[in-house]
Amino acid sequence: MDVPKVAGGSASAALKQVLDSPEVQRLIADLEATRWTGRPGYPIRTMVGLCLAKSLYAIPTWTRTAALVTEHWQLQRVLGCEGNPPSKWSAYRFAAKLRANAPMVERCIDAVVKGLREKLPSYGTDLAIDASDMPAYANGQRYVYEGGPERNWQTDGDASWGHRSAVATRRGGGFFGFKLQMACCTKTGLPVAWSVETAKANESMFVAPLIDEAKRRGAMAVTCAMDKAYDIGRVYGECAERDCEAIVPLRATGAVVKNEHRPPACEHGVWTFAGSDKKRGASKWRCPTGECKPASTWVKADRLHPLMPRESKRWKALYRGRGAVEREFGRLKNEWGLKPLRVRGLDRVRLHADLTILTKLACALARTRAAATTQRQRRNGTARVGSRPAPMRVRPEVRRE
Ligand SMILES: [Zn+2]
Repeated sequence: MDVPKVAGGSASAALKQVLDSPEVQRLIADLEATRWTGRPGYPIRTMVGLCLAKSLYAIPTWTRTAALVTEHWQLQRVLGCEGNPPSKWSAYRFAAKLRANAPMVERCIDAVVKGLREKLPSYGTDLAIDASDMPAYANGQRYVYEGGPERNWQTDGDASWGHRSAVATRRGGGFFGFKLQMACCTKTGLPVAWSVETAKANESMFVAPLIDEAKRRGAMAVTCAMDKAYDIGRVYGECAERDCEAIVPLRATGAVVKNEHRPPACEHGVWTFAGSDKKRGASKWRCPTGECKPASTWVKADRLHPLMPRESKRWKALYRGRGAVEREFGRLKNEWGLKPLRVRGLDRVRLHADLTILTKLACALARTRAAATTQRQRRNGTARVGSRPAPMRVRPEVRRE
């Protein structure tokens, strides 16, 4: 990963940093502006902090997040609710508020991505797109029990049956739920654009929207690596339209079996690659000895003949970068609490994914900023040796009501 490394502080220190970042402050201010009536409730900052804590501590439910905050005074201090921790019910109400104000969350994500782009110039240049399974909080069985009556209700009406590939010792096969479609930066390993869709939706349909979203957020998106499942003529066209080079290996389709993807050849041997013209949408190939007339030819770019030949070192390096998106799925699921789902319905699952990835990106941004500050202090010779924020040691008085 290209992300600067700094000594990790406590999770509560990270939470404080993220809560105090200008991007999250803006979200808090936006949400405060919507509170014009109704019960006074907890401060918005406390509730936003509770959402961030849920992902930061990888807790699947609001009940357990609220319980954690209730038990830890340090967390309460960071959230600004000492002696009066929010209940799980207030967390549910706040989640509904966030769903109703989805554009505000979206704007916060955009701002965090922009901040990362300023600090990490390579962020968003080379992308990798893939989809990953998010099993629903419902079983999706058609019959109530084997040989029994058909189910006449749906625990999660938005979830559907889809296919997932094998991972480690787990077999590939069908699963019931959703899929996270994600575009990751291959240099920094950080997500750039994503969307949650029902599991049966065709993955190749989300390449164009993901690249558009990444570009809208200011990513360069020069190349996009994808696996064989995306080896469809339409995908190459959609990428080319968006000035993004698709890096996809070939499936053994009829044309490939007939060797139509091979470079041109003559009696002097296989022709060599002599560069591509993006504007022209074609690559140039030359006779190895130059004796042919004409000695070179332009081949129009398509699935079989991409602008960047699949045999080139650059193509292979970019395709190796595809692993970044797989690793990020693993980190989000296992370290940031993307899995297991404990909410039902597409809008709730979407909010869950958005908050999880937002927390992860905001933490990365806070870390990058902290590293930049330390570097500057080192240059100026003002850094304290082994500098760390002063720990919050004094235990507050416990108020019992
Ligand atoms: Zn020749």
